[in-house]
Amino acid sequence: MKLKIVILFSLAFTLSALATTSVKGLRVWTSPEDTKAVIDLSEQVDYKLFQLENPPRVVVDIENTKITKKFNLKNNSVIRKIRHGKKGKTTLRLVFDLTSQQNAKSFLLKPAKQYGHRLVIQLSKPKAKKKRVTQKHKNKDRDIIIAIDAGHGGEDPGASGASGTKEKTITLQIAKRLAQAINKEKGMKAVLIREGDYYVALRKRFKKAREKRADLFVSIHADAFRDPKVHGMSVYILSKKGATSEAAKWLAQSENNSDLVGGVVLEDKDNVLAKVLLDLSQNASMEASYKAAKKVLTALKLIEKPHKKNVERASFVVLKSPDVPSMLIETAYISNPKEEKRLKTKKFQQKLASSIKDGIKQYFYNSPPPNTWIANHIKTAKHTVASGETLGAIAQSYKVSMSELKRLNNKVSNNIRVGEVLILPKIIP
Ligand SMILES: [Zn+2]
Repeated sequence: MKLKIVILFSLAFTLSALATTSVKGLRVWTSPEDTKAVIDLSEQVDYKLFQLENPPRVVVDIENTKITKKFNLKNNSVIRKIRHGKKGKTTLRLVFDLTSQQNAKSFLLKPAKQYGHRLVIQLSKPKAKKKRVTQKHKNKDRDIIIAIDAGHGGEDPGASGASGTKEKTITLQIAKRLAQAINKEKGMKAVLIREGDYYVALRKRFKKAREKRADLFVSIHADAFRDPKVHGMSVYILSKKGATSEAAKWLAQSENNSDLVGGVVLEDKDNVLAKVLLDLSQNASMEASYKAAKKVLTALKLIEKPHKKNVERASFVVLKSPDVPSMLIETAYISNPKEEKRLKTKKFQQKLASSIKDGIKQYFYNSPPPNTWIANHIKTAKHTVASGETLGAIAQSYKVSMSELKRLNNKVSNNIRVGEVLILPKIIP
């Protein structure tokens, strides 16, 4: 009985009120894979979406909704124009004129963080069938591939500084500088997981790295805390707990098993063997993650005070690749006004990038994957400092430049002490 009354009431309410929901904003994010139009709504809506050809367009009818704000669409390669009009008395019709035929999907998002109710229209190119990745590296002297993941992006701004700096902007700038620094090194090549202001789902980030056959995955972030005084960088790798839960997930999802894990297909193995292989691969990559992260942390300590002195462990989703050593770097606290200011400068970003690169380089010079240019051409030798030796003399005797020698050994000054072990690169002609 009670139910009936409620229904009658809500019906009467809907009829009497004309278009109570309003469109409060519209944003468009374009990535290489898709374009998302996000419509901000004052409340949850009922809507219909359909597509038309010649010319290609997507039509969205949103019930009981009106537009209260004007929105501008900046140059977009997929959506030519967005028009709106009324259909009937209270239905809002949005028409997306497209530059080419797209597959349209849509979904509603509930309020989260700074956002309210949202309707998302996702447009993607009709897909060509995916090839299974079974190709091995053919090149005997291949480059070591570093996947660089700029945290957040698009609809997800990440943390914000007091003066409005968004984490997603900073991470992309640092990621691009890091890629540049890496690409200057012989034998190393960077790939960017995100190249612009758009969001990439967390699992997709490490999936992309695996598709690119990355030897290392580095995710760049900037930290935030309610106390603005907290400062410093931290380097994270996956925790044991995070790895265990991920292993269970991998074995449960058959779609993953047809992929290669550490160079082995798990599909045709029985469960016990598959688990053993996966464990081995995970353990190896976690050990490698730790070693690489430690090198990067040491290199970063030279330019910035660490927030945590040691490599930290956490269950971050982006670090869950079962066979690609992975680390996440919180470059500084964006919530600390001083660090926010510094994070925006080219100088500091460049320093971060070259230190992270130095750490990565040191790691790979010490443990290069087989069949890589670095494995074949760079042999690291060690030199123990004897009394009376200078850094300059050592550099000269090994035909290494001072700056290279200092970089390799994370040195800011020319000071050396007796008994200290120096790493030396030796390029075999
Ligand atoms: Zn972040």
